[in-house]
Amino acid sequence: MTPRLFLSPPHMSGREQEYIAQAFESNYVAPLGPMVEKFEQSIRDCTAAPNALALSSATAAIHLALRVLGIGEGDVVLASSFTFIGSVAPILYQNATPFFIDSDLHSWNLDPDLLEQAIAASPKKPKALILTHLYGQCADLQRIARICDEHGIYLIEDAAESLGALCGGRQSGTMGIFGVYSFNGNKILTTSGGGMLVSPHKELIEKARFFATQARDDAPHYEHTDYGYNYRMSNILAAIGVAQMEVLEERIAARRQIFQWYREALEGIGEISFMPELPGSRGNRWLTTLTFGYADPEKVRLALEEYNIESRPLWKPMHLQPLFRDALRVENGTSAQLFARGICLPSGTQMKHEDVMRVAGIVKKALA
Ligand SMILES: *Cc1c(COP(=O)(O)O)cnc(C)c1O
Repeated sequence: MTPRLFLSPPHMSGREQEYIAQAFESNYVAPLGPMVEKFEQSIRDCTAAPNALALSSATAAIHLALRVLGIGEGDVVLASSFTFIGSVAPILYQNATPFFIDSDLHSWNLDPDLLEQAIAASPKKPKALILTHLYGQCADLQRIARICDEHGIYLIEDAAESLGALCGGRQSGTMGIFGVYSFNGNKILTTSGGGMLVSPHKELIEKARFFATQARDDAPHYEHTDYGYNYRMSNILAAIGVAQMEVLEERIAARRQIFQWYREALEGIGEISFMPELPGSRGNRWLTTLTFGYADPEKVRLALEEYNIESRPLWKPMHLQPLFRDALRVENGTSAQLFARGICLPSGTQMKHEDVMRVAGIVKKALA
């Protein structure tokens, strides 16, 4: 049997072990340390976000964002419905009330018209919006940021999947009061697990740093007037992140190339539509995702599985999750339709042209 072709496996640059060795030599086998600082610096350099905080995960980063903004019991938090649970579970950690907003077909991301409807329909003035740039492709960020601004709603960008994507010439994650990146094992870059919180506001990042390190007051002993979390990233994992950041642009180019190969092979077949790229944006094409006109995506997934190739349905929208059965929502059927008709194809950056052609060939055969 040929080795399994995974959806998005880690792809090391080759320098990770050298930097890990440096971390060991300095004996910073600890959270915090020089590699954490270097990793944060590399994110600031890459995104032009002035402040960055390395954390144990993007979920932790979103949780800290809500906590720092004072969002708590009974507050309404708007969110993209078409996303991964890590994007919105922190709303529940804070005992706040999620309000899910459906997608539009131009972007597959949050529909700005529905955002306006949600604001008008909300039982209370919403405090924040968690906006996901799904599969590395930009939402209509300019317009959404303007709406949030007009209504005094904090914008938190979930850029977990979209590191390096350019939305209207700006890096995804840098338009909101907070932005979040993930370095989980399947993302475009990985530290095996990790996240980053960025913000234009230094004092907010300092506050997040305080909560991420158990809310220790300034004293030689352990003094606490508030409680926090243990959310910092280890210096060893940050060493991996430093090496990974050196190859971000190469990885984006490779993901975009893989997308292009799939498109050339599959466009026009079986009424396939690929996830769009909004004008004026450059996504990172983290995963190549598409919908079929009539074919059952599950049939295609099973056909790929027979060849030991991993593929996945698109994210199941939050408003369709049993957990959120009774949650507030504005829906137009778009993300439900995308979920029913779509698939994510293997998009790992070690894939060669022949690998993509092999996958595309099996998809075509399954459609025939
Ligand atoms: C992966 C992901 C997260 C969570 O990231 P972790 O680092 O695994 O906590 C959040 N939102 C989206 C959209 C993701 O894809």
